[in-house]
Amino acid sequence: MKEKLLLLIKIQECDSELVKLSAKKKTLPENIEKLNQEFSAFEEGIKKNKLKYDELKSRHSENETKIKKINESIVKTKERMLEVKNNKEYQAMLKEIETAESSRGEVETSIISILDELDKLAVLVKKDGEILKQNRDKYEQEKKTIEDDLNAVDSDVVNWEQKRIELQKNIPDDLIARYERIRKRNKGIGVTSVWKAVCNGCHMNIPPQLYNEVQRSEELFSCPNCNRIIYFQDIEKPSEIS
Ligand SMILES: [Zn+2]
Repeated sequence: MKEKLLLLIKIQECDSELVKLSAKKKTLPENIEKLNQEFSAFEEGIKKNKLKYDELKSRHSENETKIKKINESIVKTKERMLEVKNNKEYQAMLKEIETAESSRGEVETSIISILDELDKLAVLVKKDGEILKQNRDKYEQEKKTIEDDLNAVDSDVVNWEQKRIELQKNIPDDLIARYERIRKRNKGIGVTSVWKAVCNGCHMNIPPQLYNEVQRSEELFSCPNCNRIIYFQDIEKPSEIS
C-alpha cells in the first residue's frame, strides 16, 4: 500500500469517527430526553389505580363521619324524647329517628361496597407497584448506559483529533488540501476503496483500465464519477490497512 494513501485512509478514519461523535453528541441527549418522557408517561398511567384507591379511601372516611353524625343526632333525639309532653311531638321524633336510621343504612351499604372495591384495588395497586419498580430499574439502567456513552464522547473526540494531528504531520499540504476539498463535496468521504471495479463511495463502475492502474500504479487516482481518491481493496482478503 502506498504510504501517503495509507495515511489518508487513516485520516479518513479519524474524520469519519469525529463525524459520528458529533452526531452522538446531538442524538444521545435526545435519546435521554425521549427515555425520560416515556418513563414519565408510563408512571402517570400506572398511578391510575392508586389515585382511585386514595379517592375511595377518602370517601370511606367521609362515610364514617356521616355515620358518626347520624348516631349523635339519634342519641340527641332520644334524649329530647324523654322531655316531650305531647304525643304529636313524640311521634315526630320517632319519625326523625326512623329517617336517620334509614339513611344510616344507606351509608352502611355504600361503605360495604367501597370496602369491597378497596380490597380489589389494593391487589392491583400492589401489582402496579412491582411493575413500576421493574420499569424504573430498567429505565435507570438504560439512562445510565446512554449517559456513560455521552460522557465518553468528549474524551473520544480529543483522542481522534490528536491522532489526526499526528497523521497530518506526515502528509504534504497539497494532498491534505485535495482530500479536504473532495471530502467537503462528498458527504465527508474523501478517500474510498474500490472492489470489483466498483467505487464504494458512489457505487458506480470505474473503467477497466483505471481499475487496473489503481491496483498497480503508485499514483493517486480519483473516481471519475464522485471524484473521491480511490484505492484498491480486496474485501475477501484480510485488510492491509491497520
Ligand atoms: Zn465514486
